[in-house]
Amino acid sequence: MIFNPDYECMPRKRIKDLQLSRLRGILSRVWENVKFYRQKMEEKGLSLKDLRTLEDFSKFPFTVKQDLRDTYPFGLFAVPERDVVRLHASSGTTGKPTVVGYTARDLETWAELTARVLYAGGLRHDDKVQNFLGYGLFTGGLGMHYGAEKIGATVIPTSVGNSERQINIMKDFGTTAIIGTPSYTLHLAEVMKDMNIKREDLKLRVGFFGAEPWTEEIRKELESSLGIIATDNYGLSEIMGPGVAGECQLKSGMHIWEDHFLVEIIDPETLEPVEPGEVGELVITSLTKEALPIIRYRTRDITYLIEEPCGCGRTMARIGKIKGRTDDMLIVRGVNVFPSQIEEVLISTQGVLPHYQIVLDRKNHLDIIEVFVEVSDNIFQDKMRSLVEMERGLTHKLKSVLGIDVKLRLVEPKTIERSSGKAKRVVDKRKLSP
Ligand code: ADP
Ligand code: ZN
Repeated sequence: MIFNPDYECMPRKRIKDLQLSRLRGILSRVWENVKFYRQKMEEKGLSLKDLRTLEDFSKFPFTVKQDLRDTYPFGLFAVPERDVVRLHASSGTTGKPTVVGYTARDLETWAELTARVLYAGGLRHDDKVQNFLGYGLFTGGLGMHYGAEKIGATVIPTSVGNSERQINIMKDFGTTAIIGTPSYTLHLAEVMKDMNIKREDLKLRVGFFGAEPWTEEIRKELESSLGIIATDNYGLSEIMGPGVAGECQLKSGMHIWEDHFLVEIIDPETLEPVEPGEVGELVITSLTKEALPIIRYRTRDITYLIEEPCGCGRTMARIGKIKGRTDDMLIVRGVNVFPSQIEEVLISTQGVLPHYQIVLDRKNHLDIIEVFVEVSDNIFQDKMRSLVEMERGLTHKLKSVLGIDVKLRLVEPKTIERSSGKAKRVVDKRKLSP
């Protein structure tokens, strides 16, 4: 079953036609209403007539996060301020937050698209869904909230934090579905254990996770500890918030709602499109946003595009799991390292808990990478031997995957700080020391 089959299952040729006509509409709207875009197009000698086919679009200028910062707060808005009915801000993971706005119609579209994501992952009218994404300026909480309501599910808006209360509510209210970040949900699973509550004591059946990168290993962990089907979903405030893309229950890539978003994958160095299916930086154009249309936004997120039809019947293309951001790629002694590579090695190892932190430092002009990871109590208590063996094995594996030496620090459970929103996996102290 599909939430909106008229759009979600459109033949691909019709999707492309719709995209071209909507793209023309949005370009002419920004040309008229947003000085920034008009100037950038004029600088390149472009006018609206230069868009005859979707391919022509690759000549148009990109937009980056800095552009939003430079025009802070409302410089890229395309409607008068009085038509804006909601403001949000990005969570500021990588610097000063940016402000985004919505018209009344934008909010309706947003609810439709988060409803598509939630429905695709299995949320239904009869569910009670507990949403522990942050409510407030962060787009996560409220974004998902209206989609869940649109489906007709009972929404329990607990927002972030207060873990014991979250679990008591799950138990008392009979929560069947949860929405959160994977890292905080893992933490909840841990607290559940401490409270002596088993998955059988709860009625959970589906979970929706996003807002930060996570691996298949974490998915397995979440599914088995909570007894749920866990799907991945993707969004970013600059484009809309959650609801941009989400997995169906086949869990093989996130359907991206191409009637509202035009996707490109580019090589972040050359800025040219990559071959179909190849990994690169995701670039998104919003096709229907009224308050804050965004043209060719460089998300800095690394993924690939899957255009083949999906077994679920949806025709909308999918993006693969986000491998990280171009700007969270760590360069350690000249070698590119993604935190997700480290996570995969750690979590596929028996006895390692899904809590880790990567610390980068510089000593004598040399980069040092340390990985702190929690290991289960019995490994710590049993015998020193297994600890040493584990350390040796993991260090070796990390070196072979990353190509550089890593200092591994096995630590006791619950020593690494937990976050209630996005996990802070990397601490880079190198910037502080000259
Ligand atoms: P910020 O850029 O300040 O973190 P947002 O709250 O808008 O602001 O976060 C959007 C970013 O979160 C995305 O660009 C992406 O890097 C990350 N993200 C969102 N969903 C996912 C997901 N499912 N997997 C990996 N990363 C995600
Ligand atoms: Zn599907």
